[in-house]
Amino acid sequence: MAIGLIAIVSCSGAVVSSDPTTPTTAGSATVTTASHASTTSTTPDSTTTTLPIAALGLVTPTGVPVAILRSLPVGYVVLTPLIRKGEAIGKTTVVIDPGHGGAIDTGAVAPTGMPEKTLNLKVAEAVADALEDRGIATVLTRTADYASPLSVRAQLADALDAELMVSIHHNAPSPGPSPVPGIEVFIQNGSSSSRRLGGLLWQRAMAALDVFDVDWVAEDDAGVMTVLNSRGDDAYGIIRHPETPTAMVELGYISNRAEAELFQDPTYLVAAAGGIAQAIQDFLNSDNEGSGFIEGRVFDPQPGVGKDVCTDPELGR
Ligand SMILES: [Zn+2]
Repeated sequence: MAIGLIAIVSCSGAVVSSDPTTPTTAGSATVTTASHASTTSTTPDSTTTTLPIAALGLVTPTGVPVAILRSLPVGYVVLTPLIRKGEAIGKTTVVIDPGHGGAIDTGAVAPTGMPEKTLNLKVAEAVADALEDRGIATVLTRTADYASPLSVRAQLADALDAELMVSIHHNAPSPGPSPVPGIEVFIQNGSSSSRRLGGLLWQRAMAALDVFDVDWVAEDDAGVMTVLNSRGDDAYGIIRHPETPTAMVELGYISNRAEAELFQDPTYLVAAAGGIAQAIQDFLNSDNEGSGFIEGRVFDPQPGVGKDVCTDPELGR
């Protein structure tokens, strides 16, 4: 097997350790299945939730033993077999983040059975197409159904020196009825760029979706806002982690059957993607501030499903 010096962050794997404080067999290395850097885990195949102190290597979820070069809060930098094929990504203008992904972190699930992760990816792909049509270079943080930590998504946007990132979600549970879509946009505290991006996203998405005759639901305080935890930090990781100006948009309520049925209609994808792409174009080419700004919320998210577990996508063939 050819060995390359391509270092990746591996989210999970069986850890190979020679640490004497962990169980060993006759002095040989022991293999302990562990999820990345987590103290609690719901991974079905995890046999322990504490990493050995001296993990020297790991076996990837696709069965490849690799050396650990460095340990990070989100996983490991490992030496992988040479990936011979790949498409280099240079600086990009826009990063679109389809929320959730993988077997455990499905996001909300519609009454129709569609998981949020699937809808988010469809909308994200439609946004990327709409942006490419406008000549705006775009990269997705997730291109299929796999889990990826929020910090890894943020690092991608920062590494590609993106002008902005938009994270796409659909909300739950359903609040009360509303004559207009219950679009919510979360922005980075103290960032005027994130605020302007959020205002434009809300304005353009609202105009694009309000044309549909649907029994919408909405929170009383829906709009563009910061959400801070009790420590005063941005509560949502995809907002807190990146240096890149970022906004997270909850386009509607997948938990509301009327909206969930609309979201399955191709005309919804065209409308939602068109609105988001137009907002991004406005952000890049104008000084417009957008609208929909409201007072922020204070919220302490519970450690969510999928927060402490992840699966790596197949990286090579
Ligand atoms: Zn979501």
